[in-house]
Amino acid sequence: MADYAKPSDLVSAINKHPEKINRLGGLIHNVVHLPEELYIKHKPHVVEMIQKLSADNDHIPTRSKPVESHGAKKAAMLMCDIMIRDGLEGNVVLAEGIHEFPGTFENTPEVQSIELEFSSQTHKFHSTGCYLPAGTIMELSWSKTKKPWNIIIGLHGDELYNTDSKLRRWPKIRIKKELKTNELGNFSSTPLNICSPFGGLIYLQSPKSTKDKLQLKLHNVVPAPIFTYKTADTWETVERYKPGLWCDIIGDKIALTLPSASVRQLSDPTMTMKVWDSVVSAHIDLLGKDPSNGRGQWVVTDEQPSIGYMHSGYPIVTHLDMADPNKIYEDCFLLSRDHILNVNNRKGSWGMFHELGHNFQDSMWTWGGTKEVTCNIFTLHAMDVVCNVKPWDHLWVREKFENASNYLREGAKYDKWCSNAGIALLVYAQLARDFGWGTYKSVFRTYDKLPKDKRPSNQQEKENMWIQTFSNVVKRNLSLVFEFWGWPIRGLDDLKKVSSIPP
Ligand SMILES: [Zn+2]
Repeated sequence: MADYAKPSDLVSAINKHPEKINRLGGLIHNVVHLPEELYIKHKPHVVEMIQKLSADNDHIPTRSKPVESHGAKKAAMLMCDIMIRDGLEGNVVLAEGIHEFPGTFENTPEVQSIELEFSSQTHKFHSTGCYLPAGTIMELSWSKTKKPWNIIIGLHGDELYNTDSKLRRWPKIRIKKELKTNELGNFSSTPLNICSPFGGLIYLQSPKSTKDKLQLKLHNVVPAPIFTYKTADTWETVERYKPGLWCDIIGDKIALTLPSASVRQLSDPTMTMKVWDSVVSAHIDLLGKDPSNGRGQWVVTDEQPSIGYMHSGYPIVTHLDMADPNKIYEDCFLLSRDHILNVNNRKGSWGMFHELGHNFQDSMWTWGGTKEVTCNIFTLHAMDVVCNVKPWDHLWVREKFENASNYLREGAKYDKWCSNAGIALLVYAQLARDFGWGTYKSVFRTYDKLPKDKRPSNQQEKENMWIQTFSNVVKRNLSLVFEFWGWPIRGLDDLKKVSSIPP
């Protein structure tokens, strides 16, 4: 923290100039990372700042009473930082307003101790199947490891420090701490105490590229529902009733995290998870490799994703309504098999297929205007091979036909093509219809073999390489197809080779 942002100086500056409170309050940051001594010294001033920023105590974010004003939002962020810092140091801290999200127990369930073992080849999350109730202290000890693993409480990793929207939940609710490798022996002798002010499912996160094992002892935790193919037999009788407030539904290639309330009545989700696995497999098959390096995909449902309704990443974050078993239309309940399979030939889980598609995009064939487009090549492919809906017949595509014919009639301007993901997708759908998915597979594999110095670096090179590569694979000059859709055909040297291919 820079000198000018010392909370004590800021508080006295605010006392002198109360009208500047929002600007001055905004200068405090990183309370979580202050060295211990400074933290103790500054904390009372930060608390004073919170009181000044939120004079009406209106900084507790909930769905039913979101935090709106700039000052109250800043107060919520500072409050969050302090609570997390204190909880990580093993103090009892309980956030207010968490009954709606991520939730609180009506009756506190009995806590348990548990011993678990994990092995990992890659940087990923590992479910423990345990939940830490908000405001309670978990004790943990772990075995010696090659590199430090992390303990995580709450998978909701989206932070809302920069959002323009009202806060419907605390801006940061994932608690994470590095488990230092202990040189001494098998288990750490003094257990670590951690409290989450918000509560949440407990995960391990393995380090990058190390084959490693970890044994873990957890005390004061609550069992939570967890589905894997191995535990499917006990899902309906035991697993789905475990008291933890959130649960993990885990397939071979994808895991879903949603509130346990969404699955208390859910029958064995084996067949549904097989469908999700086949969607991810379809994406892998089209691209020719698994960009996650075996880590797999993860989806978490959140009251307030940091951007938009859903976004890609690890985990993919979707809005909480996709955890609602009664939601049976577009981007339906995540565990509704019929809707994922798009049996009624509407739009199915277009949004989820799309976000998964983002996780498979490559910048070699994706440029400025196509970020929201090339991910949908994967959507169309999975809709075809998993849901049996052909690209040209998919409702999402058909709905774009009218706009597209207007676009073409008005003279096909490339900047408009680049700014309209719906129109833009049609050329890719047309290529799939006319040349089949095998062509796309060859194209992506051709790109994958390119040495680093042959990869396209700017938009024009990327456009040209796409036309050229696709043309080479189908052994036809496709530049006219792209020109028809408004693409600028530039850099003729590169394209001459294509033109020499007989049409
Ligand atoms: Zn997108």
